[in-house]
Amino acid sequence: MSQLQENTNPMFGGIEAGGTKFLCVLADSRGFIKARADIPTTTAEATLSAVKEFFISRSPEFGQLVALGIVSFGPLDFNKQSPTYGYITKSPRPGWSNINLLGYFRDSLNVLVEVETDVNSSAMGEFSEGAAVDCENFVYVTVGTGVGAGIFAGGKLMQGISHPEVGHMMIPQAKDDMAFSGTCSFHQNCLEGLASGTAIHKRWQTHPKNLPPEHPAWDLESYYLAVMCVNLTWMYAPEKIIFGGGVMTRSFLYPKIKTNLKKMLSGYAHDVALDMDGYIIPTALGGDAGITGALALARRVYLEARR
Ligand code: ZN
Repeated sequence: MSQLQENTNPMFGGIEAGGTKFLCVLADSRGFIKARADIPTTTAEATLSAVKEFFISRSPEFGQLVALGIVSFGPLDFNKQSPTYGYITKSPRPGWSNINLLGYFRDSLNVLVEVETDVNSSAMGEFSEGAAVDCENFVYVTVGTGVGAGIFAGGKLMQGISHPEVGHMMIPQAKDDMAFSGTCSFHQNCLEGLASGTAIHKRWQTHPKNLPPEHPAWDLESYYLAVMCVNLTWMYAPEKIIFGGGVMTRSFLYPKIKTNLKKMLSGYAHDVALDMDGYIIPTALGGDAGITGALALARRVYLEARR
């Protein structure tokens, strides 16, 4: 690690790997982005090679690339004890199964590399530069095609035998929604199956963006999300619950969730201490949360290695 300690101008890389593009950024130790590129997702070989070339060609202008944080589509193996840690395992994308994402960049760029789930990375982004810079205990929830959450406790991401699966918590189904079978193939009445964008689409037979604010879909949605919030409140006592994802760009949802949540808390315990407007809030980084988190991840792995 002596080589790392002597580096006076370390540069950090972030990759947000998606189905249509790999967003790559290069930033200094304060998180200022110096270069970025959108590399189209084609074959695994061509895409990874182009990403590698971006870092090799652009880093020397600014400093030495020392660490890389990767947020990727899955399924990705996040178990550090596993022989396939950092691999994209069985991807539905042709030619993208069994790809050693972490190893490819670690070996070809000779840098420290860490991988993280997209939702955990977004939570890290909010913690380092977004809506959670002033707190150490919060939950970041994304409601898009799926539902997922990253949980911060004492300034660290919670990680047990795996990452938490908040999207699959059991939710009491609303009385007027009993006929709906949900969209999760594992559970009849889990949060994701009832409240994801995919669930809204299936229930109302149209894309959520086509549903106007007065549509009953949103009363149901805010009820389900408030149930999640009340469960998160009792279990983790977070300082904030931060929302991201496509569904949560509909700003009229927030007051509805707060009203429902207030009712469900029923004046018990935390209710008296909660300022709803500071408690249920949208992401401060929008679509940049993931890549901001990837850079934070790179800085963290570098600092850890220097200890
Ligand atoms: Zn489920």
